Amino acid sequence: MFARSSLASLPSARRSFSTSTAHRADFTHAVIGGGAVGLAIARRLQQRDGASTVLIERHGAVGTETSSRNSEVIHAGLYYGHDSLKTKLCLQGKRMMYELCENNHIPYMNCGKWIVAQDELQMAELEKVHEFAKSMDIPIRFVPRDEAKRREPDVRAEAGILESSSTGIVDSHAFMQFLHGAFEDVGGDTALASPVTRIDPPSADSLDWKIWTAPSGSTPPVPGSPTPQAPSPESEESFITAETVINSAGLYACAINNMILPPDRHRKPYFAKGSYYSYSRSHPKPSTLVYPAPVPGHGGLGTHLTLDMAGRVRFGPDVEWVDSPTDLAPNSSSERFQAALEEIRTYLPGIDTDAVALDYAGIRPKLGKLGAVASGKGFQDFYIEHEEGFKGFVNLLGIESPGLTSSLAIAEYVHDMLYR
Ligand SMILES: Cc1cc2nc3c(=O)[nH]c(=O)nc-3n(C[C@H](O)[C@H](O)[C@H](O)COP(=O)(O)OP(=O)(O)OC[C@H]3O[C@@H](n4cnc5c(N)ncnc54)[C@H](O)[C@@H]3O)c2cc1C
Repeated sequence: MFARSSLASLPSARRSFSTSTAHRADFTHAVIGGGAVGLAIARRLQQRDGASTVLIERHGAVGTETSSRNSEVIHAGLYYGHDSLKTKLCLQGKRMMYELCENNHIPYMNCGKWIVAQDELQMAELEKVHEFAKSMDIPIRFVPRDEAKRREPDVRAEAGILESSSTGIVDSHAFMQFLHGAFEDVGGDTALASPVTRIDPPSADSLDWKIWTAPSGSTPPVPGSPTPQAPSPESEESFITAETVINSAGLYACAINNMILPPDRHRKPYFAKGSYYSYSRSHPKPSTLVYPAPVPGHGGLGTHLTLDMAGRVRFGPDVEWVDSPTDLAPNSSSERFQAALEEIRTYLPGIDTDAVALDYAGIRPKLGKLGAVASGKGFQDFYIEHEEGFKGFVNLLGIESPGLTSSLAIAEYVHDMLYR
């Protein structure tokens, strides 16, 4: 649906070694990765006067990896601490996303969310979230017991409920489709089926970045591989030049990082899979999202209940460390399933467990086995840097949740890094 061009078909995209002494780069910007974040960045950069931006995507369509395997929640920005990039970009991104969706008929719903506590320990976590939200002016309040019973009689919360009214959901596919269309409408080019295999920084021979892609269907680079992969003979003829390179390759971003930076700046990727469960009954069906209290140091936000734009209930995601970014089969272990059911039953005791079924999985790109919320030890923030000594290279690593919510703000941030 999104697809259009391939790199080889772009007018100035095919060069050979013997013709590579051009003084003008083929493109002002090369954005690697056509997920929500890469699409938002490409659209923003292409809006500049005189820009020529190419979005390079290894699949035959944009938005087929993590950006289409998540909860589609517009996060309020409650969990990531005062000084983190995640908080700053989530708050700004949330505002921008609501505005963009409203103005461009992208399906979204400001349905709010409840975070529920079943005991005093969990209530203490809710108090922390409440205090943090207040300090950041994020709309938040405790829901009185009688109001809770009236509004959501099926939801159990023995100790308390915190309501975040600015949380919502979005149709992530429609959002990405809009971004891609807007990018191409202002003259952006998309190179589909073009896995990047090697990147040469500017040098004495060439003022520009040289980005090599393998033919469609080639094996993508090994994530975290310390050695840049040599291009195959066929791919030697396929490169483009660009003044700037943006690495927004999601689960493969460490592999791109390691193609460019010296060994002492290489990064190892970690992958935290989250499996989801569908629910096929119409009852119980709360009209708001329901999350358990956050657990400090946990890699996710607990097995929560979300809704999609079609009104379907889904549960998840859990956290399972996996070795490969392609390990996308949802985990069918019956112990995990029982553990998820147990967690769901704590806040939704009337659930018909026979109607809960394994659905799909997504993988969080992590930079360590670190926590997703700032209240535990080892919190991992987004890593977004204009890399020192590599002018024109903006590197985005560990863009896990709330990356979808933050995508439009990340695009502004990257733009300002290059041009302010
Ligand atoms: C289980 C789960 C639940 C989540 N829930 C939410 C949520 O509710 N709300 C929220 O805000 N965020 C959520 N997130 C986070 C959000 O989904 C991500 O932060 C966001 O989608 C990241 O977008 P991206 O563009 O960086 O990555 P991706 O969508 O992964 O896109 C990267 C792209 O790069 C391409 N690529 C990779 N290597 C190469 C290469 N060598 N050459 C060319 N192309 C390449 C890939 O094919 C891919 O299309 C969740 C994530 C997970 C895993």
